[in-house]
Amino acid sequence: MTEAVVIDGKALALELRQGVGRAAAGLKADHGVIPGLAVVLVGEDEASRIYVRSKGKSAEEAGLRSFHHGLPEDTAEEDLLALVHDLNGAPDVNGILVQLPLPPGISPSAVIGAIDPAKDVDGFHVVNAGRLATGGPGALVPCTPQGCLMLLKHHLGTLSGLNALVIGRSNIVGKPLAALLLGEHCTVTVAHSRTRDLPAVSARADILVAATGRARMVKGDWIKPGATVIDVGINRVPDGDRTRLVGDVDFGSAVKVAGAITPVPGGVGPMTIACLLRNTLIAAARQHGLEDPEI
Ligand code: NAD
Repeated sequence: MTEAVVIDGKALALELRQGVGRAAAGLKADHGVIPGLAVVLVGEDEASRIYVRSKGKSAEEAGLRSFHHGLPEDTAEEDLLALVHDLNGAPDVNGILVQLPLPPGISPSAVIGAIDPAKDVDGFHVVNAGRLATGGPGALVPCTPQGCLMLLKHHLGTLSGLNALVIGRSNIVGKPLAALLLGEHCTVTVAHSRTRDLPAVSARADILVAATGRARMVKGDWIKPGATVIDVGINRVPDGDRTRLVGDVDFGSAVKVAGAITPVPGGVGPMTIACLLRNTLIAAARQHGLEDPEI
């Protein structure tokens, strides 16, 4: 039996980051604009610190400006809101990202709601979510679903008419991805923790995206032979006396059935950061009254 094509998210993300770099250089040369990304981290969560560092570094490598704002764990919500307000008004900041999760006591929806939608490069503000849901122009699209869509289109070309299953209904992955796939004319099913007989639902999917946070939940024998499988999950599991990252798909059994599959790590993760840089560039262009750059 032939094994699935392993979709190389790292390679595609590198191409995308290089495209952002070229477009950023053009924006600077033609209009004197250097896109700026402000990243706000509240507290000391280790995983969040790693993400934030890598976002800042990737932004600078692509020729963007990056501004880091580290706040203590006991920051009051009103102080964080005041910082967001300042960043909304800062002309050299085109994109604002507040790293989630936030410490208890700070409402994520209040903070996200305070970000100027034009600078909301995570795409979580209700204005951007609404634009995406209604298929209108001008949305800043959440980075992880955008990355999933790019991986799918890179591998499959047109998605029109395919049965797509998204497992997970979060506001940051499942719901926006379902909207994007509808926009590509897929027949979309969204499954979640109350879905009955998930293996039977999975068996009809030409495209299966797993975003549940449940390590190796999707088994090879659930998957329609030849389907394209996108694994969004990032789960740390014990491995001897160490730990390692695995996805929401049981890669070992799935690779024998799927037509193509993303690995963890090296699939969706790198695309998420590349899409964040792309959103920052798009946001900067729009704020200067320019067309969206082609990348
Ligand atoms: P979440 O916890 O907000 O949502 C999980 C969803 O999975 C829920 O809608 C829930 O109904 C569903 N679910 C849980 N158990 C299920 C089950 N047994 N059967 C069917 N559905 C089930 O999670 P999230 O923020 O959407 O993240 C999902 C996963 O994606 C996590 O592993 C997270 O670490 C990862 N993630 C990765 C990236 C990336 O860049 N690669 C970005 C964001 C999230």
